[in-house]
Amino acid sequence: MPGDETRTRFGDDPRERFRRNLEAVETRIAAACARSGRARASVRLLPVSKTVPSDVVRLAVELGLTTLGENKVQEAAGKARDLADLGVSWSVIGHLQTNKAKAMVAFASEFQALDSLRLASLLNDHLVAAKRTLDVFVQVNTSNEESKYGIAPDDAEHFVRALEPFTALRPKGLMTLALLDGGPDEVRACFRRLRAVRDGLRKTQPGSGIDLLSMGMTGDFEIAIEEGADIVRVGQAIFGKRPTKDGHYWPGLLPDTKPA
Ligand SMILES: *Cc1c(COP(=O)(O)O)cnc(C)c1O
Repeated sequence: MPGDETRTRFGDDPRERFRRNLEAVETRIAAACARSGRARASVRLLPVSKTVPSDVVRLAVELGLTTLGENKVQEAAGKARDLADLGVSWSVIGHLQTNKAKAMVAFASEFQALDSLRLASLLNDHLVAAKRTLDVFVQVNTSNEESKYGIAPDDAEHFVRALEPFTALRPKGLMTLALLDGGPDEVRACFRRLRAVRDGLRKTQPGSGIDLLSMGMTGDFEIAIEEGADIVRVGQAIFGKRPTKDGHYWPGLLPDTKPA
């Protein structure tokens, strides 16, 4: 069972806490779907377990989670090892350094932060060697912040076309992070931009596989659903507020904290 520090952060009975949190997130997702005339089944919830220790993640998985999102490869690989008996799938949602490509190929089933052709090529080589494929999302920088990873919206068409030779990569969609300290209108504009890029690709490259929109997190997933999100990536609303400064996960000119 989790130790004292964990108990303070996750409550006396983390299982009960997660069950309530998941229920609350589910209610919010359902409401956003209803508001925007969408079927609940059209939105996939990707729980993000970064910073949560393996033994605590285990309690949440036992409530029925089947895929978990992690931002950093090393942390994710450790949890994949610790929780191998549970059979969960792992989605890497954070920027990947090329020297971590091989490590990711060893355990991840999905990668949501593809942002360079060099990385695409390297991943493809490792995947071919491992005789496997990987679902990928292209990360797009929709907030125009220099500190953000992701390709520029205007480069998407060229980028996606250039992925064609990498046959072990299975393009599934686009991913974005909205402006982290923006107001609702600015956040919404980011999501609309991502959707416009996807709609453009559907016309110019209908065979590319790019179809799904991964956008929205704890602070903004309702807006994302209203703007067409197929996948929302939710950490803090499920696992509680993170003690780690988010600059650790999103290097650059980002605020130290953001609302849970
Ligand atoms: C941590 C993270 C999330 C989830 O953020 P929360 O505020 O915890 O919901 C979503 N996407 C990415 C890329 C992340 O790193």
